[in-house]
Amino acid sequence: MVLRMATMSLRPNTSDFYSPVNDEPAGHAGPRRYVHVIGSTVFIDDQVADDGWPRHVVGVVNGEAWWAIDVPQDADDPSYGSALDLFSYFGRSSEAEWIAAGRAVQLVEWARTHRFCGRCGSPTEPSAGERGMKCLTCGLVAYPRVAPAMITLVTRGDPGPDQEALLATGECDFGVHNVTVSVLSAGGGFSVRLMGPDERSAGQILSHAQLLVK
Ligand SMILES: [Zn+2]
Repeated sequence: MVLRMATMSLRPNTSDFYSPVNDEPAGHAGPRRYVHVIGSTVFIDDQVADDGWPRHVVGVVNGEAWWAIDVPQDADDPSYGSALDLFSYFGRSSEAEWIAAGRAVQLVEWARTHRFCGRCGSPTEPSAGERGMKCLTCGLVAYPRVAPAMITLVTRGDPGPDQEALLATGECDFGVHNVTVSVLSAGGGFSVRLMGPDERSAGQILSHAQLLVK
């Protein structure tokens, strides 16, 4: 299916407002925000509910240092029931805040599953100056997994309002409220090891649009 490209309004470039960092910038004197991650929901406050809970720097949002706070499973709910899942937080926040909250959830989930060394089983702790969990016994450092994703857009014609794009239809299930909607998009997906970008692009076009790229 070939559709004429519509004129779209661009969302603001979030890099202007949010920068992911591994450590709070030296000398940071601005305010802090704490994303309490309760399960996979978030409760954001300017105070930490408990200083003893694990914490991780997320980034800087509009001059504020954002921290992720890992709320233990057996702790009393610091949000008193007001924590939101990320889907609900979208629309109640700026785009930069939403991205930072999403990173907080991912960081906490990653740290929860790397509390012990994969080599010797000893406890780990955050590795100074980098995003890693370091074994206290053998020194092995575990880093977050990188899952490269890619998207490929096939176009026809010169750039401009008359340029056409090849889109595929699909169904998107948001996982809440039993909502399934049909969407149009360019082909995309996660890349796999030992597959180059060209090869992966051709595979995406073939699977989404049934076109063979030669
Ligand atoms: Zn170890």
